[in-house]
Amino acid sequence: MNTPELADLTTCKHCGQSFTGPRIEVIGQPQARLQAYIQILSKHFYEKHPREAQMMDIHTAIYSGLLFLMNFKTTDKELNEKRDQLRWTIHQQTLKARFSDESLKEQCGVLAETLWDLVYDGTQHEDTKVEWKRILLEAFTAIRDALEEPGKYPEAQTEQKLVVV
Ligand SMILES: [Zn+2]
Repeated sequence: MNTPELADLTTCKHCGQSFTGPRIEVIGQPQARLQAYIQILSKHFYEKHPREAQMMDIHTAIYSGLLFLMNFKTTDKELNEKRDQLRWTIHQQTLKARFSDESLKEQCGVLAETLWDLVYDGTQHEDTKVEWKRILLEAFTAIRDALEEPGKYPEAQTEQKLVVV
């Protein structure tokens, strides 16, 4: 059931303070309400959380550095690595989901069981199921590692942990 009488709510991840957005729409300025809302959030963030704001500025500089370096092709190994490290740092901040080894093991186990139930006709050996789980886990781990790139630049990992995502 819809509850239109309740205003949308935005909560600060650092202190838990809640904000309700301005409800007024300005005719002819479709973005005005959203801009006013973001301004309220911005004022709170910069005034109440200067340390986090400073970290955000550092990450803005990282993104700016990446965009700058993307204007060049180079054979310089160090420059290429720097560009990739900047990309990786931003990537780690924007990942929507992470999969732990334990989670992958569990999901591959369930998948192997499901496949086993689908194809089992009494002739297969139980070891086949174990082998499927191993193959699935290897494949999913490779995909996870390619997408998440965990621990690729340990020296950059320390600074990105300071930011709440
Ligand atoms: Zn706050």
